[in-house]
Amino acid sequence: MFYALNKTKAFVSGDIGCYTLSYMKPLSGMDSCICMGASIGIAHGMSKALGPKGKGKVVGVIGDSTFIHSGITTLLNTAYNRSDAVFIIADNRTTAMTGMQEHPATGFTLQGEKTKELDFAALGKVLGIDSVEVIDPLNFKDTTRVLKQELQKEGPSLIISRAPCVLLMSKKAVQAKQFFTDPDKCIGCKVCLSCGCPAISWRDFEKTGMPARPERKKQKGIAVIDATLCTGCTLCAQLCRQEAIMREGE
Ligand code: SF4
Ligand code: SF4
Repeated sequence: MFYALNKTKAFVSGDIGCYTLSYMKPLSGMDSCICMGASIGIAHGMSKALGPKGKGKVVGVIGDSTFIHSGITTLLNTAYNRSDAVFIIADNRTTAMTGMQEHPATGFTLQGEKTKELDFAALGKVLGIDSVEVIDPLNFKDTTRVLKQELQKEGPSLIISRAPCVLLMSKKAVQAKQFFTDPDKCIGCKVCLSCGCPAISWRDFEKTGMPARPERKKQKGIAVIDATLCTGCTLCAQLCRQEAIMREGE
């Protein structure tokens, strides 16, 4: 999602959570982070201060747990005071940064008992946000399409970007899905490295002593995937135009 956000060139007001790390390169997907719960209010204030000049240029991102803690009242304010920004709830189905605690939108209490599950989309509508979308942030094309679409709309929009934290995946599910790069197909364009996945690294021909490609004289190296870190999210494969990233047997 932050990779796609960076491509929109919008100003992204962020919040407190593991996703705050997206301010760093190569994602560079967040421009400010003031304090817990500030993202929506800051984005709303920017949209008001910029007026028509800010149209399509302001986004506020907040995590699911942080939103419940201190984002609901500010989202209500954006509807009440007719903000013109896009607000995103990064819904990873847990409170990841502080140790994977349940929260009111996971459907379980802290004791692990089944309970009522807060519906972010329904809540957004009730608060007065007319345009509410739910996306899978691991679908790059769709995420980009919805971001562009909502940035163009009048008034506040809410996007619920929903994908469970990778730490919630079972070991078996992770092991069944790992990707690798085909060194013969890789042209060394580094596009896959720009998605910021720690499983992907660069092998420089000169530094590693790997044989260079006589047929591709400008190529300096190849991308490689560490199978022990890959969760099989498919994002890098969606970005590689050479179809050099694949799974075993595909
Ligand atoms: S995007 Fe594809 S071709 Fe480019 S470096 Fe990555 S694997 Fe190689
Ligand atoms: S599939 Fe996902 S986790 Fe695996 S290397 Fe690509 S981006 Fe990283």
